[in-house]
Amino acid sequence: MNSKYIWLNGEMLETSRATVPFLTVGLHYGVGVFEGIRAYDTARGPAVFRLRDHLVRMEGSAKILGFRDVPYSVDELVAATVETVRANGFGACYIRPLVYLAEGGWNLTIDTGKPHVGVAVWEQTVYAGRDLSKGVKATVTSFTRSHPNANMTKAKVCGNYANSVLAKTEAFRNGFDEAIMLDPEGYVAECTGANLLLVRGGRLISPPLDAILDGVTRNTLMQLAGEMGLEVEERRISRDSLYLADEAFVCGTAAEVLPIIEIDRRPVRDGRPGPVTLRLQAAYMDAVHGRHARSDEWLEYVGVVPRSVENSGDFVGRRVP
Ligand code: PMP
Repeated sequence: MNSKYIWLNGEMLETSRATVPFLTVGLHYGVGVFEGIRAYDTARGPAVFRLRDHLVRMEGSAKILGFRDVPYSVDELVAATVETVRANGFGACYIRPLVYLAEGGWNLTIDTGKPHVGVAVWEQTVYAGRDLSKGVKATVTSFTRSHPNANMTKAKVCGNYANSVLAKTEAFRNGFDEAIMLDPEGYVAECTGANLLLVRGGRLISPPLDAILDGVTRNTLMQLAGEMGLEVEERRISRDSLYLADEAFVCGTAAEVLPIIEIDRRPVRDGRPGPVTLRLQAAYMDAVHGRHARSDEWLEYVGVVPRSVENSGDFVGRRVP
């Protein structure tokens, strides 16, 4: 991975020095929470898409998991993230903030360890080498999405992703590009690291938030769809209605808007990306690249002081008292 500097517990370190001791609970038991964020090239330089929203979600994930004393505020992490992107000198890149349990916690409780916090960035423009315009082939995986009472599905908890790895590995080994996960009641939930949206009868349809992550991309697309005059509906989706969808697509920070052209060897419509998907994809790309009327509201330009920390000096390295 092309990464030069990582911000770790308040220090900007060369990536090779940003290491974690083998005996760290976060590594052994997946006790941590994280975010996946992207910066894009815009006419005004690199800009991070919905940075604050992602970091607010990470704060919520930490709370859900039980962390009580994350030593940095959202404002400080906004500043640290912008600083890390700047330090690496990247334009478009992927950003990975992570809070993990260290210095204890071996008895499987949060309070006997300490949260450590890092922000890494690396250059990444294309999702898994996929051509967004061509679309992917998906399958319904045999692995069930965790019940919200088992693993907290509103939180991006590191350990939750073992469930995603099981599903995606199965899908890949069976020759598919993406796995669609059903919830414990058998209704469509989401993909392994992205949400799933359908189009039927000209309406944008999403599973309800019950057992899925409240995706920033899903939320963005629902707003963009509304502004385009599309009706947006949240309802339970059964497996068979997946096969009857006019259009289907994966959406997430990494995946962006990725058309699904086949589900379980059945073509979605004519097996080509659908018109609504392509319109939403174009609007999303305009939004993230600073070309949409909503862009300024959603983008944190790396070349300027983050809105939230104007007049607050340099937060990097300063701990919350
Ligand atoms: N669901 C899961 C399980 C994810 O990991 C992600 C990626 N964060 C998403 C959905 C999409 O969320 P977002 O659009 O905020 O990236």
